[in-house]
Formats: sequence, structure tokens, C-alpha cells
Amino acid sequence: MRLLHAADLHLGKTLHERDLLADQAHMLEALLQAAAAEKPAAILVAGDLYDRSVPPPEALRLFDAFLPRVPALDRELAVVVIPGNHDSAARLSFGAGLLARAGLHLRTRPEECAQPLVLARGGERLALFALPFDAKAGEWRLVLRRPWSPGAAGSAAVSGPPPEIEARLLVQARAFPAEDIGLDAANTALRTVPDPKKEAEARAFAELLARVDPDAVHLDSALILPVGEARRSANFGDERRYLYSGGGSESSRHLGVDFAVVKGTPVRAAARGRVVFAAERIVTGTTVVIEHLPGLYSIYMHLSSASVAAGRLVERGEVVALSGNSGLSTGPHLHWELRALGRSVDPEAWVKAAPLDKARLIAIMDAAIEGR
Ligand SMILES: [Zn+2]
Repeated sequence: MRLLHAADLHLGKTLHERDLLADQAHMLEALLQAAAAEKPAAILVAGDLYDRSVPPPEALRLFDAFLPRVPALDRELAVVVIPGNHDSAARLSFGAGLLARAGLHLRTRPEECAQPLVLARGGERLALFALPFDAKAGEWRLVLRRPWSPGAAGSAAVSGPPPEIEARLLVQARAFPAEDIGLDAANTALRTVPDPKKEAEARAFAELLARVDPDAVHLDSALILPVGEARRSANFGDERRYLYSGGGSESSRHLGVDFAVVKGTPVRAAARGRVVFAAERIVTGTTVVIEHLPGLYSIYMHLSSASVAAGRLVERGEVVALSGNSGLSTGPHLHWELRALGRSVDPEAWVKAAPLDKARLIAIMDAAIEGR
């Protein structure tokens, strides 16, 4: 049985004031075409169907027009949606009980975690456990009982007949602190005033970080902290609200680690790699990017100067820049970020262990050669 797994549709999102609705209509069309070709049991939307808790009417209309086309295409095809951190679980849950009968399963309640959705297709059955974004931390006991009828929720109750199938799932708690950051007029303008040069820079940077050079195999160790054990002024995943000088605010998630270091602190390459970018950018100031593995980039922002140029192969610990306060910054610091295939990941997690354990790989190869 197949599942078509989608996520983060963000219907209603605008990007640099450009309306993405036409692109999103195209994306939904592509989803339907893929479903027609692959015949999945369900289309999953794993978080953030909408871009915000109160989506614009056009976004609602777009999804509303999409929904009846699903059973028209395939009567057995279900749509399963969980909320993410952008859309609202409470609003998304409206009418969930009724809609489930029509094949749209809005799984928004953490207490539904342990209740499987049973999908049927061509004599096969599949129990799907959809965990919402705010699933409660702890060990979940997932139980699937007879009768396994399509669309019927199983039960996690302790009483009753013995479970047929049981699995345990650990949901770990993680707190993301929130911070308000007041911006002066200059920094407010950097975030809010449309600027074609800034947008061109954003596009070029996104293209650069989406590149995967198959020959870029440089990493041979865990990462080091680029400025050593300095105080962190922000961590990966922190929620932040920018308060604009003229009123208004905007929230975002911090996708790197900030080290509170004085201007001029040597910034070292976190690992061996090739410098692919070393230049000034409007928002991030002087910026250095190093590719360590195909599609794995470390990024150093708000520098006062870079001491390497694009194209240079650097060793782990080599000084590549001096820290600063350039770009959109409210004080001297180093913003350090790690992107893996375009996704921001917690760089600190890569300090603890090497993603490629060469010694282990060599031992495996040796064992294979020796026929053991
Ligand atoms: Zn930062």
C-alpha cells in the first residue's frame, strides 16, 4: 500500500510580497496527478496546511476546491492532515468528525495520537498514527484492535479485549524559548522595506544552498564550535518576535546558533570543506559559506571581515573570518547555521558525532574483504 506524503503546504503564504496562490494551485494539481498515477491509499499533509492560524479566504477557497476532486478521482483515496506550528489546531479541527466520513481526516488533538486511522485498499489494511505538532511528550502505547474496519478509530483504552498489535512510541519534550527583539528604524527597514536587490540576494543564496555537488566529500570529523565555548545568546529553534520601530511585529524561528562574542573574534571553519561563498549580503552582512559534504553547508553571518575567498579548501579549525555586527544585527555576535539539503538543522547536534564515521566504515569494509 502506498502513501503520498506531503507537508508544509502553507496555503496563503506570500513570499517577499508575492502571492503564491497560483503556484500553490499548481502544486495541488500536481498532487492529484501523482495520486492518479501512483494510486496511494492516502495523501498525507504532515503539518502546516495553511500558512497562519487565520488563513486568507483565497487559501480556504483553494483547498475547498481541491477537496471534492479527491473522491472524484478515487473513491478510496483519503486525505490525512495534522496541524503544524503555523496553522491553528483548534480552527483546523472544525467539522473534523463529519469530514472524516467523507475521507478528510483532520487529526488535530494530541489525545488522538494513540488512535490509528485504518485505511483500506485492494484487500490490504493500513493503520496510520497521525501525531499533531503539539503531541504530548512521553511514551505512547499505540494499540490496534479488531475489528480493523476502514476509517474506524481503534482504541487505546486499557480495558476490553486484548490488543492484537501493540507498539511503543517515545515523544521527547523539547522547549523552544521565545524572545522579543526590538528593532531600530534601520533594522526595521531591513526586514520590512521591499528591496529588489535584497530579494535577488535571497534567491541567489537559496539557489546556492540547494546545490548538491557530488564531489564535495570533505568532511572527515565531527564539527567544532567556530568560536569555541562562547556564551550562546540564541539557540537553534528559538521563537523570536521582531518588534518594529514604527509598531507592528513579525515572528520567526531562529535557524542557527548565536554566539555573543566581541567584534574581531577569530571564526574557525567548523570542519574541513570548500568555501563556496564569501561576500557581503544586505540582511546577513559579511557571510561565509562552506560546503562539507554534498549539500551540507555551514554558514557564518554578521562578520566584520572574511579572510578566505570562494573556491578555497579549508581545514577544520582554520580561521576563515573575524566576527562582527554587520547586516541585520542588534549587537556583535556570530550567527552560525548548518543546512543539510536545504534544511536548517541544529549545528550543535553535529558537534557531538561525525555524520560519517570513517573508522567504522573502514572496519566494515575490512571485515567484508576478509570474508568475516
Ligand atoms: Zn542568529
